[in-house]
Amino acid sequence: MSKLFSKSLNGVKVKHCKNTMEQETVVMPVPDKVVIPMKQHMGKECDPTVKLTDLVKVGQLIGDTTAFIGAPIHSSVSGKVVAIDEFISPSGEKNKAVVIETDKLQEMDESIAPPVVTNHQEFVAAIRASGLVGLGGAGFPTHVKLAPKNLDEVDTLIINAAECEPYITADYRTMMEETEAVVEGLSLVRKYLNLKQVIIGIEDNKPKAIETMQQAVSSMEGVSVATLKSQYPQGGEKVLIYETTGRVVPEGKLPSDVGCIVMNVSTVAFIAGYMKTGVPLIQKRLTVDGGAVAEPKNVLVPIGTAFGDVLEFCGGFKSEPKKVIMGGPMMGIAIYDMKFPVLKNNNAILAFTEAEAAPPVETPCIRCARCVNACPFDLMPAAIEKAFKAGNVEALKGLKVNLCMECGCCSYVCPAKRNLVATNRLAKKLVMESNKK
Ligand code: SF4
Ligand code: SF4
Repeated sequence: MSKLFSKSLNGVKVKHCKNTMEQETVVMPVPDKVVIPMKQHMGKECDPTVKLTDLVKVGQLIGDTTAFIGAPIHSSVSGKVVAIDEFISPSGEKNKAVVIETDKLQEMDESIAPPVVTNHQEFVAAIRASGLVGLGGAGFPTHVKLAPKNLDEVDTLIINAAECEPYITADYRTMMEETEAVVEGLSLVRKYLNLKQVIIGIEDNKPKAIETMQQAVSSMEGVSVATLKSQYPQGGEKVLIYETTGRVVPEGKLPSDVGCIVMNVSTVAFIAGYMKTGVPLIQKRLTVDGGAVAEPKNVLVPIGTAFGDVLEFCGGFKSEPKKVIMGGPMMGIAIYDMKFPVLKNNNAILAFTEAEAAPPVETPCIRCARCVNACPFDLMPAAIEKAFKAGNVEALKGLKVNLCMECGCCSYVCPAKRNLVATNRLAKKLVMESNKK
C-alpha cells in the first residue's frame, strides 16, 4: 500500500481567484424551458413519473427509482412536459431527461409539506424523498451516506467547507448567507445519527467564514471549526478526514470505517430548509466566473436551466470563450453545448478566454518526480502513464491507479505539461473493465 498520509497533505498551491467571494447571491429568473436529466447522482437512473403533455408544479416528483443508491428528481418549475428526450452526460452516458416548458407562475405542488421525523430511520427516508445528493460536486445520494452499516461505530461528522477549487465561492456564500441553516442542518444530522462531535473544515483563505462559523457554534459542545491550510485538494474526502481528525481511511474502506461521515456545507444547509418546508432539491447556488464572463457572480438557479441562460443572466460573454467548464478548473468537466443544464451537483460554470484555456504543449517526461510529490495519495503518475501506454493492466493495478481521486495535482505541477490526470481516468476505466471480465 502507498504511504497514504504518513505525512501532512502533499497537494499543490493554486491561485485562489475567488473573485466573487463578497458578492451576495442573486436569484435568477425562471427560464422559458428546463431540461431535467433523470440521473444527477451516483447510482441508478430514475424512471420518469410524468409523461408528455402533463402539467407539473414546482417540487413535484418527476422521476424516481426503487434502487437504494439513487435519488428522486423533482420539477424546479411549473409548466408543461414537452418532451422526454435522450440526454448525454459529459462522460458520454446516455440517460433520459424531462423537458418542461415553464409557465412562469411557479405554482407549488400541493403535496409539499415538512416531513415528520422522530428517529434516524424517518430522517433517512425524509432525506431520500428530498432528492438530496452531495452538493459539493460528487453527487452521492445523501440518504445512503446517512445510513452506514456500522452507524454505532461512527462518532464524527465532518463538514466540508474547504472549497479548495479556484474560483468557486458558492459554499462560502452559503456560510455567509445561511449561517443559521448550516448550524441547524449539522445539528439535525448529529442528533439523528447520535454523533459525538462535529468538525467544520474551512481553508484559511476564508477568514470571514471561519470567524462567522466559530461565533455561530461557540456555545455548542462538541462542535468546532478546523482552520485548514489553503492547499489543494484539502476538500478531498480522505484528505479532509486526515487533516481534521488524523484518521487514515485505508484502501478500499469508507469514511465510516474510521468513524467519520463527511458532508458538504451546502448539503447540511439544505437539510435545515427542507425539514422546515418540505421543498425538495430544485435549485442550486453556483459560481459563474472566468475571464470570458461579463459579470461574474453567484446565482441561485432552477435545476435544469441551460448554461447559456445562466451565462446570459451574467451579462453574456465579454470575449469569445475558448472553454466552458462545469465545476472548478482542477476537477471540472468541459461542456461543449450551452444547452447543457445545471445539475444538482453543479457548483460552478466557468468560461475561459483563449489565453486562459490555451492547451499546454506536452514534452517528454524528465523523471523529476514532482507529480509523485504532489499526489495526496503518493501515487506514481509517470509510472501509471507508462503502464497505461503499454496496456499493462497488472502494472496499473500494482500502481494502485484505482486510488486516484482525479484531483489534477500531478498535471498541475508537471513541468513537461503531461496530461496525467486524463491518462489516469482512462487507466482507471481500463482496470475496471478488466475486473469485470
Ligand atoms: S490526479 Fe490522481 S495521481 Fe494525480 S495527484 Fe491527483 S490523486 Fe494523485
Ligand atoms: S512531473 Fe511530469 S516530468 Fe516530472 S516525473 Fe512526473 S510526468 Fe515526468
